[in-house]
Amino acid sequence: MLAIGIDIGGMSIKIGFVNERGEITHRFRMAVLKGVSQGQIMKELGDLVNAEIEDAGLHYSDFIGVGVGCPGSINTLTGRCDFSPNLDWHDLDIVGMLSSSIGLPVRIANDANAAMLGEAMFGAGKDFKNLVLLTLGTGVGGGVYIDGKLFEGNEGKGGEVGHTIIRLGGRQCSCGLRGCFETYASASALIADTKKAMKKNKDSKMWDYVHGNIDTVNGATAFECAKLGDQTAMEVVENYEMWLTYGIVNFCNIFRPDAVILGGGISGQKEYLTRPIEEKLAELHYGFPMTPKVRILVSKLGNDAGILGAASLAFEKVQNQ
Ligand SMILES: [Zn+2]
Repeated sequence: MLAIGIDIGGMSIKIGFVNERGEITHRFRMAVLKGVSQGQIMKELGDLVNAEIEDAGLHYSDFIGVGVGCPGSINTLTGRCDFSPNLDWHDLDIVGMLSSSIGLPVRIANDANAAMLGEAMFGAGKDFKNLVLLTLGTGVGGGVYIDGKLFEGNEGKGGEVGHTIIRLGGRQCSCGLRGCFETYASASALIADTKKAMKKNKDSKMWDYVHGNIDTVNGATAFECAKLGDQTAMEVVENYEMWLTYGIVNFCNIFRPDAVILGGGISGQKEYLTRPIEEKLAELHYGFPMTPKVRILVSKLGNDAGILGAASLAFEKVQNQ
């Protein structure tokens, strides 16, 4: 059986037909053009999926259902996107419109929750029953997987790990509060901290690394220069890992996952990122040393995380029915 995974992004919608092993057998995309109404986009999306099923020589009976990962505030009880700031969508009945045009069951989730399920079903979390995913990007997205099932919370709005507060009165967050985890642990936070440290330390190797142009600092700058032994870069990385680790300690104490999966560009640092966190974590979490160790892993799905996460929603619904 196949599932249709629909990954909605700010610029385009990526769609894939996915089999039970997590392989994308057919893929296509649709641009999200400015000025086109949200209802029109849903209509075109439904028509496109129907046309692709026909062109691929497939039948509706080949499909188990449709999964949709959508950014923003998604209500999984009503199947509506309540609000998506990047797309400027309001109260859009995604499940209703797509299920009537495609004629298959449709399940929707917030894109980060969908990514969590995709990682659990097809990626780094495949062998585990309890997981937390943290995607280190502009913010910290993520999700929680408990006892072999995606945790969604009331209306599907749970799992907002990036907005747990780890410092009262701390840094200003885009959500309006202060001291959220993502203001310290996101890639954006790391980049801001790297630049700050560079301005204070003009002799840091990081200046050579970016050829004197501070605007080109990215999430790898401090890590790569720390590997070269640059003291300033090492301090930036250590400080970043400290905040990340303390956030993870909280999630470990609440959920006691088998593993925490790190995604986003910074996870490309692999063991250089995960090993220090794993070592510190072992001593920090409650009950040490009598509690099981929590493994820190990096995401495996890469660029296909969105499509596979969305498709996994359709597969999980059937498995748990
Ligand atoms: Zn916040």
